[in-house]
Amino acid sequence: MFRQLFDPESSTLTYLIADDVTHEAVIIDPVLEQVERDLKLVREHGLVLKYTLETHVHADHVTGAASLKQATGAQTAVSRGCEAAGYDRQLDDGDVILFGHEEISVIATPGHTGGSVSFLWRDRVFPGDTLLLAGCGRTEFQNGSADALWSSITGRLFTLDPQTLVYPGHDYKGRRVSSIGEEREFNPRLAGKSQQEFVALMNNLGLPMPKRIHEAVPENLVAGSGAAQARASMSAAVETRSVSAQQLAAIPAGSIVLVDVRTPAEFGTLRVAGAINVPLDRLDPAALLRDHGAGKPFYCICQTGTRSQMAVAKLRAAGVQDVVHVDGGTNAWTAAGLPVQQSGRKVIALDRQMRITAGSFILLGIAIGALLHPAGYALSAFIGAGLVFAGVTDSCGMSIVLARMPWNQARA
Ligand code: FE
Repeated sequence: MFRQLFDPESSTLTYLIADDVTHEAVIIDPVLEQVERDLKLVREHGLVLKYTLETHVHADHVTGAASLKQATGAQTAVSRGCEAAGYDRQLDDGDVILFGHEEISVIATPGHTGGSVSFLWRDRVFPGDTLLLAGCGRTEFQNGSADALWSSITGRLFTLDPQTLVYPGHDYKGRRVSSIGEEREFNPRLAGKSQQEFVALMNNLGLPMPKRIHEAVPENLVAGSGAAQARASMSAAVETRSVSAQQLAAIPAGSIVLVDVRTPAEFGTLRVAGAINVPLDRLDPAALLRDHGAGKPFYCICQTGTRSQMAVAKLRAAGVQDVVHVDGGTNAWTAAGLPVQQSGRKVIALDRQMRITAGSFILLGIAIGALLHPAGYALSAFIGAGLVFAGVTDSCGMSIVLARMPWNQARA
């Protein structure tokens, strides 16, 4: 039995192979978010999952290895070159993985990462990101090397039988399989190129960092068990991680720590009773735990729900697990007609200050450009680029600067 499975979120291709007689099976490159899908297949076909195999430590998704092990007892395996703890078996070049009457051999193919391997089963090779369809994995981090990748592809994979089917670790364009012969002949990264040309090409790809690298790599070094444990410890009710204003209002006072991450001035003007004020730019997870962490969950709130999500992310990154974000912030709270503590003082909310400031700078740049010097347009372009960056990354340097302005501080 052979199945190719796809995770649309990360465009990862996962493979399930099973021996038809004994029903022993392996999964190559499982994805944490797709563990239920994989388990369903295993159950439906009465399979005995023996191993989960990683082609490398992934930077773009968290492996489902630990969760699958928890559910089925399958041994987790990764190559020794990945220097990843927390796996049951460390694989070396030439190792053979046995399941039922089937066997998979391990081919060391470093380059995409220092520890990347390919798996060879019958007439099929699973190169992970070493060789993609009409492409290959990038080489700029995790001990990657364009020279090593060249050697691995041309010296190891391209020496396999040309009829060997290539089942890659990812595809972003809907392709699913090709062959060694086809890639050797047509892969635009490699065909007709010298090693020098290939290396120059690989070192100048200029790709952005994978979105989830800071989460995925540490998780995958421990087989994804960090995420698995966090998930297991969270009940279904807590899984949401965010509450509406109404849900927040229903929580008994004193059972949570409500952290308002707006500026002191915004906080002083209007707030939910019982909230403490820790402005986002001064949020120190260690200090918060020390001063308020008495085993109660932290609920983060701001004006609209953007800064509170950033606060939640910051706390989570620091290892604070029990954090919830309040959807829609104080805007949603007041819109729901819930009681607030209010002072007469009016402060323009930070997001509006941001829009006013950015707009003013753009107008100023255009005015300078038109009346004084063309360089003025650069100011407008810079602010425009900053806003695009802020929108795309959901962060904003300007709001951090504005938050520190005297009018945004509390009145003595
Ligand atoms: Fe990869």
